[in-house]
Amino acid sequence: MASDRENLIAAARAMASRGLSAGTSGNVSLRGAEGILITPSAVPYEALTPEMIPLLRPDGSHEGRLRPSSEWRFHLDVYLSRPEVGGVVHHHAPYCTALSMARREIPPCHYMVTRFGGGNVRCADYELFGTAELSHAVLRALEGRTACLMANHGALALGRDVFAALGAATELEVLAQQYLLSLQAGGPVLLSDQEIEEAANQFAIAYGPNTGG
Ligand code: 13P
Ligand code: ZN
Repeated sequence: MASDRENLIAAARAMASRGLSAGTSGNVSLRGAEGILITPSAVPYEALTPEMIPLLRPDGSHEGRLRPSSEWRFHLDVYLSRPEVGGVVHHHAPYCTALSMARREIPPCHYMVTRFGGGNVRCADYELFGTAELSHAVLRALEGRTACLMANHGALALGRDVFAALGAATELEVLAQQYLLSLQAGGPVLLSDQEIEEAANQFAIAYGPNTGG
């Protein structure tokens, strides 16, 4: 079985190979048996080996010879405030980032928006990267949600583990692309609150491979 460190590296490489992150932009973390593991700052994902992964302590200090991602604050703050979260993926993928540059949220333009916890995916206020202020803005935008855009920056998605977070980050980018295309086609017809609620319920009762039996 792969270790948490190997899983973190696999998720970071998959983020890059899926076109969600160019160069060393973005970062990935997970909460595992050792604690919180996070990609180091500005190291190409192909070059990562398990012993290069910093361990982030709850007080913000770290173990390991490499400096953790400059965005360690929002990763840590998510884990401290959301006990159900086991993985966080932050990226600068093109469509999410294009919307974030326009400081637009994703409205209820498709039922898949409910996969992120409600009727929209908010855009966090702009703050300088790597700051506690950015972390506060991100946490506000994540209230009741599992993903948000980040103004003039990118996006992030949460999951029960790092691969679920990667899946959510990928779905978010597709949703952002679809929304942008629909804007070019005259703008989406938005779903009502009731339609959004029905879609969320439908996921709970009629979606997924488990029959409940
Ligand atoms: P790091 O390489 O320090 O993780 O920074 C990338 C990034 O996306 C900053 O917002
Ligand atoms: Zn970033």
